[in-house]
Amino acid sequence: MSVSQLAAKKPKMAEEIKHLPMIVPLPLPEEQLKEIVEKSKDWALMHGAAMRSKTQFSEDALFFAPFVLIPSAFPRKEFAKALEIQLILNELMHKVAHDRRFLTESLKETIKVDEFTGNLFRIYETVLGEGLTQPISLGMVRSDLMLEGSCKNHAPSSTPYCCWKQVEFNTIASGFGWLGPSSGAIQRYILQELGHSDMLKNLPENNALEGLCSGMIEAWKIYGKPEAVIMFLIEDITYNICDQRFHEFKIREMCPQVRVIRRTLTDMAERASLGPKKQLLIDECEVGVIYFRAGYEPGHYHSQKEWDARLLMERSLAIKSPSIHYHLAGTKKVQQTLAKPGALDQFLNDPSKVEKVKQIFAGLYSLDFDELGEQAIQMAIDDPERFVLKPQREGGGNNVYGLEVRDAVKKMKDSEERTAWILMERIHPPLSTGYMVRPGGSKAPQLVDMVSELGIFGVVIGDAEKITYNKQVGHMLRTKVATANEGGVAAGLGALDSPYLID
Ligand code: ADP
Ligand code: MG
Repeated sequence: MSVSQLAAKKPKMAEEIKHLPMIVPLPLPEEQLKEIVEKSKDWALMHGAAMRSKTQFSEDALFFAPFVLIPSAFPRKEFAKALEIQLILNELMHKVAHDRRFLTESLKETIKVDEFTGNLFRIYETVLGEGLTQPISLGMVRSDLMLEGSCKNHAPSSTPYCCWKQVEFNTIASGFGWLGPSSGAIQRYILQELGHSDMLKNLPENNALEGLCSGMIEAWKIYGKPEAVIMFLIEDITYNICDQRFHEFKIREMCPQVRVIRRTLTDMAERASLGPKKQLLIDECEVGVIYFRAGYEPGHYHSQKEWDARLLMERSLAIKSPSIHYHLAGTKKVQQTLAKPGALDQFLNDPSKVEKVKQIFAGLYSLDFDELGEQAIQMAIDDPERFVLKPQREGGGNNVYGLEVRDAVKKMKDSEERTAWILMERIHPPLSTGYMVRPGGSKAPQLVDMVSELGIFGVVIGDAEKITYNKQVGHMLRTKVATANEGGVAAGLGALDSPYLID
């Protein structure tokens, strides 16, 4: 369904959905809108807020990435809380990644039926069995969250939200380290052009790119060989190229001694090998750090040889972002297991930390063959629109929403397959109203109702014993048409945005 068709669909229960305030009066006068859209599209293109087109692909051309013209309002207090809790989430996920018993117990049913997770898990067991060559992991993570606008005991007269809830925690290929900050830069330019320079102070600083690159450089220093390279593991075709090349350019700017190379899983399968100390070697380079921007979905592994390449990398001395255990810790099944009573206490020894994390979890339910699983199946059948049904996949477009949750659950309820899915309470974010600017549209954008998802970036370095580096490094905001279930920017329903902090 196109954006305009979706925008025309009336959101369900419109009267119950709350609105965030507009930060500047809209609509803009027609002429002003036309002029600012033209200018800002060029600004975006000329500053690298861009992507390669899926429909008119050429390696030599970029289209600007869709963006929201005026930044969406976001409550300052909730934003501060999201930044603050990131350090606790980093610590939690690092510890989860290093807890073999917990990962094994959490995933034991899922790996029987989900081939992809099963393959990852086999690699995990193989490298643990052999003894890890590289004990240090580099986590470059992103915690995604949405404001919740419909808490049961929320007073109707107060703010249009009551808190925020975590959507998911990404441990592999957490993108938008460049596009996040660059959307703030476009919107700063736009606000200034519209005569609102006084408002810029409410757009928070965002140094995600530097923060993520610092993490990679730090890991490279730990690896400790000046001639070693940082390798970006990439898809066969990279559409979101700016969001990778800017990392590469920034690394070179911050630390000119480091070379960055880009290789696919197939390149690795065909040409990589291990040296005598298990150094990862490819095309005459020794790889010190691997940054995975691929390998998170089944389609990236064309055959067994790409799986063998993943195992080879995991066996190697290179510091991996993520290592296989970090990848597994980021699965939705592990997210659901962490929401079980008592789970967090195993990892966070400070009860106040446990309490903080508990508060951000939405209801998460397993569909295992036990009493709780049966209850979850029944809840989904009785009230499907209350939930989102999620498989063990990343990258968008895999979840089930609305009435389809009931059909899907009914279909799978007697099969083993259900244990590969989790059920999550649906979050109902408050709406904001604004203009989305997309490539290819010749007409002026229309005002649409939208909802946003905030991502906070974290970097963690450490081994099973200790964490030596733990930082919150920046943020990104993605906004989609309110009636769309998902809002992937590359997929075409989401747009770059940044938070405008309100009190
Ligand atoms: P993926 O790994 O595919 O990104 P997510 O769990 O992030 O999986 O889900 C994809 C998208 O679906 C999110 O970006 C969000 O827009 C929407 N979504 C996911 N979970 C929920 C939820 N509980 N409530 C509302 N929307 C959700
Ligand atoms: Mg996601």
